[in-house]
Amino acid sequence: MHLAHRVARWSAGSGMALVTLVTLAALAASAPRLAAQRPAQRPAQLSAETRKYVAVDAPVVVLQHVRLVDGTGAAPRDDQTVVVTGATISAVGPAASTPAPAGARVLDLAGRTVLPGLVMVHEHLFYPTGTVPIYNEHGYSFPRLYLAGGATTIRTAGSMEPYTDINLRAMIDTGAIPGPHIDVTGPYLEGPGLGLYQVHALTSADDAAGMVRYWADHGATSFKAYMHVTRAELGAAIAEAHRRGLKLTAHLCSVTFHEAAALGIDDLEHGILVASDFVPGKQPDTCPAPANAVANSIAATDMAGEAVTGLIRDLVAHHVAVTSTLAIFETFVPHRPTIYQRALDAMTPEARVQYLQNRARIGEDTASSWTVLFRKEMQFERAFAAAGGLLLAGSDPTGYGGVVPGYSNQRQIELLVESGFTPVEAIGIATLNGARYLGRADHIGTVAPGKAADLLVVRGDPATHIQDVENAELVVKDGIAYDAQRLFESARGTVGLH
Ligand SMILES: [Zn+2]
Repeated sequence: MHLAHRVARWSAGSGMALVTLVTLAALAASAPRLAAQRPAQRPAQLSAETRKYVAVDAPVVVLQHVRLVDGTGAAPRDDQTVVVTGATISAVGPAASTPAPAGARVLDLAGRTVLPGLVMVHEHLFYPTGTVPIYNEHGYSFPRLYLAGGATTIRTAGSMEPYTDINLRAMIDTGAIPGPHIDVTGPYLEGPGLGLYQVHALTSADDAAGMVRYWADHGATSFKAYMHVTRAELGAAIAEAHRRGLKLTAHLCSVTFHEAAALGIDDLEHGILVASDFVPGKQPDTCPAPANAVANSIAATDMAGEAVTGLIRDLVAHHVAVTSTLAIFETFVPHRPTIYQRALDAMTPEARVQYLQNRARIGEDTASSWTVLFRKEMQFERAFAAAGGLLLAGSDPTGYGGVVPGYSNQRQIELLVESGFTPVEAIGIATLNGARYLGRADHIGTVAPGKAADLLVVRGDPATHIQDVENAELVVKDGIAYDAQRLFESARGTVGLH
C-alpha cells in the first residue's frame, strides 16, 4: 500500500478520513522505576562526539540577567539569575541580589529567556519514509534534534525498534551521544488490522500482558496501545503495567475513551479526534468502518455539548491525561503554514519531496473537513484543561512526514497558544505537565532550586511573542549547556535517512 495513495484517501471527499490518516500516521506511525527517583546527574564522561556540541561545561555556571518563565504558570520575572551547580539548579533570584559564586563561569544572557527544558510525551525515534509501511529508525538525527529544540525529556509514544530505543537511551545517559532523557515506550500493543510490517498483532489478553512483562523486563518504562486493541487486551496490559509502577497510554479506536477510562488507562493520545465514543452504532472492540467514521462523528458533535462535557468529566474523575498533538494534525489541514525552512533543511532531498508533494495534494482538497476538525480539537483541549484535566504535549513525527523533532516541538507550543492558552500556560503544558505525568515533577519541569538543571535558553521573550521559542540558543541538560544551533546543523540532510 503506497503512502501517497493513503494521503489521497485521507484528503479525499468531505468526510475526512482521520482514521486512515492516523493509521498512516501510525503507519508512518534497566530498572523501570529508577528514572522517576533518580536525582540529576551528569554522565561520568562525554564522548568526543557529544563534546562537539557542548557550549559550556563547568562545575558552577551562572545564567545572568535573564527573563525567567519558570514553568509553574507564574508571571515571567525580569533580570533574574539562575545558578547551576553540577547537574542541579542551586539558586534562582533577582540578578541584583543573587551573586555569582566565586570561580563560577558567568554568562551574561541579557535579552534571553530561560524556560524549563521541554518535557514532551508523544515523540518517536522513527520517521515515515518511502512508500511502504515500514518506518526507518532515526537513531542518529532524532535524539540530537530533540535536544536542539529544547526537549530535555521525552516519552516515545510507541516504538518500532524497542531494542534500539533502549540502547539509544543508554548511550545518551552515558554521554556517548547527545540527546534527551527518554521514557522508552515498548512496542505497540495492537490487534490485527493495522498493516504495518513492524507491528505485532496481539492474539489474546495473555499475549498483551506477556508483551508488557517482556519489555518491562528489558527496559521499557511505559507502554502504548493502539487502534485495534480489545478491551480485554487493554485491561490486561494496563494491569500488568500498573503492577510494575509503569504507565500506559493509547491511540484508541476499537475501545472508546469512556471504556479506557474505566479500565484505568493513564493517558489518551491525540485528543477528541480519535475518540470513537460518538460513532452511532459503535460495536464493542471494533474500530468503526468506514475509515472516516470517527472523524465524521466528531465533525457532527458539539464540543460544548453534554456528550463531550460528560466525557471530559469522566476523564478528569479517572485522572486520565490527554496528549495534545496539534503539530501532526496541522500537517493534514489545507492551507496551514508549511514547516519551517530549517526543518526542510534537516531532511534528505527525497524526504523533502515526499513531504512537499503530499502537502501540496492536501492543499488542493477543497472538501477537506480538517480545518473544522483542527478547530474542534483545539476547543476540546481548552475545555479539558479548564475542567482540571492534565493536558500534555507532543509532536508525533509520523503522518506523511514533515513533523521534524525539535522544530515541531516548538511548533506544538505555538499551536497551544493559537488554541487559546497564554504563552505561559502553553509553556507549562510542555514542561511541568509532562513532568507531572511522568512522576518526575520533583526533579524536572520547572526552574527552581534543587531541580535538575534542564533548561532552554532562547533569544527574545516567548511570554509575549511565542514564536521566540524557536530561537533556541542553549539547551542545558543535567547542568551541561549544549549549543542548539550546532546540534541542529549536525542533523542537516539526515531526516529520512537515519
Ligand atoms: Zn505517534
